[in-house]
Amino acid sequence: MSKNHFLRSIAENDIKNGKHDYVYTRFPPEPNGYLHLGHAKSICLNFGLANDLNGKCNLRFDDTNPEKEDEEYAESIRQSVEWLGFKWSKLCYASDYYDQLHGFAVELIEKGLAYVDDLNAEQMREYRGTLTEAGKNSPSRARPISENLDLFERMRKGEFDEGQYTLRAKIDMTSPNMTLRDPIIYRIRYAHHYRAGDKWCIYPMYDFTHCISDALEGITHSFCTLEFQDNRALYDWVLSNITIDENLNGEKGKLMPRQIEFGRSNLEFTIASKRKLIQLVKDGHVSGWDDPRLTTLVGLKRRGYTPKSIRDFCAEIGVTKKDSVIEMTVLENAIRHDLEASAKRVFGVLKPLRVVITNYPEGQSETFTVKNHPKDDEMGTREIPFGREIYIDHDDFMLDPPKKFFRLGPGREVRLRYGYAITCNDVIHDDKGDVIELRCTYDPLTAKGQTSDGRRIKGIIHWVSATHALDAEVRVYDRLYTEPNPSAADDFITLLNADSLRVFADAKLEPSLAQGKQEDRYQFERVGYFCFDEKDNSTNKIVMNRTVSLRDTWAKVKR
Ligand code: ATP
Ligand code: MG
Repeated sequence: MSKNHFLRSIAENDIKNGKHDYVYTRFPPEPNGYLHLGHAKSICLNFGLANDLNGKCNLRFDDTNPEKEDEEYAESIRQSVEWLGFKWSKLCYASDYYDQLHGFAVELIEKGLAYVDDLNAEQMREYRGTLTEAGKNSPSRARPISENLDLFERMRKGEFDEGQYTLRAKIDMTSPNMTLRDPIIYRIRYAHHYRAGDKWCIYPMYDFTHCISDALEGITHSFCTLEFQDNRALYDWVLSNITIDENLNGEKGKLMPRQIEFGRSNLEFTIASKRKLIQLVKDGHVSGWDDPRLTTLVGLKRRGYTPKSIRDFCAEIGVTKKDSVIEMTVLENAIRHDLEASAKRVFGVLKPLRVVITNYPEGQSETFTVKNHPKDDEMGTREIPFGREIYIDHDDFMLDPPKKFFRLGPGREVRLRYGYAITCNDVIHDDKGDVIELRCTYDPLTAKGQTSDGRRIKGIIHWVSATHALDAEVRVYDRLYTEPNPSAADDFITLLNADSLRVFADAKLEPSLAQGKQEDRYQFERVGYFCFDEKDNSTNKIVMNRTVSLRDTWAKVKR
């Protein structure tokens, strides 16, 4: 169940008062890019409300801009909606309504409510007036109906150039609401449409298409974002001036849909604009639309976000009448919360440092039986092998550690998680002076957490057996931008975070990961949550992505 919000109250009341028998919503993306987190909010709202109230929800492609749209985008959008866990009642395309839309345009002309205009774009702007100044009627406004019908038909047949004529609704050039100043409802475009092909050279405008599509599909509540507030009057104008006796569901005399606006949500440190995303992809700043640093739904999926975490995030941010900016931590906590409960615990060492345990017999090994989840016994146990040579993380060793460094240093003792305590006796350097190996001894009496003499060992570090470890490439992601609101900058490219991707090419993982399945999620203890990369992971090479750190490290930096 999603949380209560004002749109839900409106819908519930409409059912209670008998205005509608059931709720029918739609999610109406334009197939001109990949879906992002903002769209997820709209998906969860529309599909979620329909699910909660036993209603219906369509996935409808608002595809009336032939130049920008593509089947690649449409396919990805369908997949993302399904991935989020929603099923549409009907899969619809505004482009399937081109015949009907054309018929309604003719109806408006016949009623004297639309006319063919020959003003060019610049003239139209002049005639339109401003917010403080009324517009002027175009000379074409007086064109007789028969001539309008003839010209509109010739527009359809392709007798004119692009921009030579437009079809405009005849409403009110003096309206304080600029969208009612005779808006264009059809324009000429000689462009191939990814579904309609070359059948049309006139295309309907969004404002004309959207309301009619809603009405044809029997939508009851048409939710859209705040920037469409002024368009609502036009939405209602079109629907009250055309005749729909029966909708596509065979319902007769059904009430017209109602448009209601809600606020957009944008996430800090991200960009949602499709135009800017395309630039990032085309110029190679990211690896593609599914780069795990992007908050596209395909990017989040590849990063390891679960559908549940995104639905939880959307429930958490809620639906209000105001636009909002959401802190990254809200998204990260949603996935942390999900993975904390569901991810298997394992050991992964990103920056391996070889440790030889000199008093452990050569050729010998043993295994420790370890729970897969500290709080969930049903997740079972696994064996982790231990031997004379292990890897620990470079970051868990310091040559000259400060007092508070409770990890390994020369002469210091540390506990290997689930294993023995080891003491560092010797440090091996290479020619350049870099530390390449540690010589340690282990205390056989320290298995299972105890010590023989009651001494306390403060530090506990993770490790993997060198002879059993799996090689892997591990990718660690960070925010793509250095500023919370990169969209505001003139050149957002200069705000890219140079450290947004770190690749650990020589990572060592515990052997149980060889049995991992693509969809499995892991917590590398002390390191973060990880998943297999869906593109680059293979049987020959393990490639894993860090989904999220265990804690919010940026919170510390900021405060
Ligand atoms: P973009 O600006 O990325 O191109 P858009 O709104 O133009 O986004 P559409 O395909 O038209 O993209 O969006 C489909 C639906 O998703 C619309 O109903 C729109 O209102 C909604 N939507 C898009 N972005 C957001 C957002 N940030 N928050 C809430 N809803 C959004
Ligand atoms: Mg849009």
